[in-house]
Amino acid sequence: MNRRRRIYEGKAKILFEGPEPGTLVQYFKDDATAFNNQKKGVISGKGVLNNRISEYLMTRLAEMGIPTHFIRRVNMREQLIYEAEIIPIEVVVRNIAAGSFSRRFGIAEGTPLPRSIVEYYYKSDELGDPMITEEHITAFGWATPQDLDDMMSLALRVNDYLSGLFLGIGLRLVDFKLEFGRLYNEHGDMRIILADEISPDSARLWDVETSEKFDKDRFRQDLGNVENAYREVARRLGVLQENEPANLRNTGAVATPA
Ligand code: UDP
Repeated sequence: MNRRRRIYEGKAKILFEGPEPGTLVQYFKDDATAFNNQKKGVISGKGVLNNRISEYLMTRLAEMGIPTHFIRRVNMREQLIYEAEIIPIEVVVRNIAAGSFSRRFGIAEGTPLPRSIVEYYYKSDELGDPMITEEHITAFGWATPQDLDDMMSLALRVNDYLSGLFLGIGLRLVDFKLEFGRLYNEHGDMRIILADEISPDSARLWDVETSEKFDKDRFRQDLGNVENAYREVARRLGVLQENEPANLRNTGAVATPA
């Protein structure tokens, strides 16, 4: 069996060394966590769906001129990506109040925001991903002011494009989280690229008509039908054939990695 070197294992994904220098293989697990790891579970078939959904969204974004780490999907659960130097910041873009934002500001979930709001969080499980400002980011050297400008403008472009894309399939993009990395070319030039994933694990998606949730909040809040929600997003995006869902459990698609 192919024993690849495991570079990093996170909560929902594993990174293996890639076939060529400068590449990695990103493996999508079915594991789900919430509330900073206090709630753990398995959403069967999630890894397969997120692999497809993220492939689709990253590909569309690349067509719009947004640089991403995505190279190609290699199988049901894995995609080939560029190895970027990950910036330890979660960039959250919000269009409608929900989740921690609603709690922090006492604004009812579902309230449209006067404009899209960008927030930064420091990626640290130990600290519970504290919210930070540009001051913390530049003072601690996590990113330069130029990096921040690039991340902010990319995040807003992603928001504009994805809001329209999801609206076209009857879903409101309430909020989402992005991660970025630095990619160096052979001349040592650096550019900021979109990394990680974009999926119902990292975005809130509500049905335009019914406000039904089609994202990880179904898991966080024990709303049930979690698998179906992820499947419905994939189906609406056109990345899942109508007769495919039933196969997900029986094809090795749910297996753990080698
Ligand atoms: N999010 C994420 N990873 C995190 C924290 C948040 O992907 O570690 C996403 C989350 O799914 C939502 C958005 O970022 O789409 C904003 O999340 P929020 O700050 O409201 O936190 P939550 O209520 O999920 O704890």
